[in-house]
Amino acid sequence: MTTSTKYKYVHLDEKNVLVITGSTIKVVELITSFKTYSQKPEELQKNYPHLSMSQIYSALAYYWDNQAAIDADIEKRSQYAEKLAQEAEEYSLGKEPKAEKNRTNIKLKKKFYVLLTVLTIVLVLAINYLGVPPNRSDFIRPVGHGVITSEFGNRLHPIYRTMKLHKGIDIGYCNGKPVFASADGVVNIASWISGYGNFVEINHSKGVQTAYAHMEKFFVNKNDWVKQGQIIGIVGGTGGVTGPHLHFEVLKHEKFINPRKKVNFPRLGVSF
Ligand SMILES: [Zn+2]
Repeated sequence: MTTSTKYKYVHLDEKNVLVITGSTIKVVELITSFKTYSQKPEELQKNYPHLSMSQIYSALAYYWDNQAAIDADIEKRSQYAEKLAQEAEEYSLGKEPKAEKNRTNIKLKKKFYVLLTVLTIVLVLAINYLGVPPNRSDFIRPVGHGVITSEFGNRLHPIYRTMKLHKGIDIGYCNGKPVFASADGVVNIASWISGYGNFVEINHSKGVQTAYAHMEKFFVNKNDWVKQGQIIGIVGGTGGVTGPHLHFEVLKHEKFINPRKKVNFPRLGVSF
């Protein structure tokens, strides 16, 4: 590589490594601190007294003209320094070199990971084969088929146009289908309620209640005992609705909770 007289103290060698006559490492530091702290050449010289002013000027001039290559060189050196530091750490503890321990650990981790993956696949296949649903509780869906059309939570009410808590989950496209009791219990309410239309509420154990609204009709009376899966009504569009659907609520100690906490429904908009 030819070195021009302009840069008589610095050049990149054939491996693209920055070289300054008499000192290689220091010029890297110099350029790093020049870049980081924007120090003037005079200030730099105080920190690098072994370099002459002309060496510093030459180094900086060279840097301006070859920034990309020099930055790459500095980056490579710092990575190399980090690697050296890591390797030094690995070998500094205990009798067995740490790198050796790490290799053993990685092998064990890989084996464990493979085992875990195989077990998961076997479990998923078994569940699919046996048809066991991923059930969160003893509560079942109140209709056999439908589409989740609205979630529990705050929303703009489609009729009243105000922000209101939607106290349940809406299941559409199940008009005329039977409504099942989600779990064993005693009927607490079975009547027409303004807004809710034909409405049934069932008391279950542990302070849980389920409620079913907008039904076409219902077949139970207050204080009836109902079994899980018993047909309590037919999906309809009674009360304040924009279209027929089942509005299904779950209460725990008289507070509305997201029905998804009790019953496993598919995602919003997904049919089942
Ligand atoms: Zn609703």
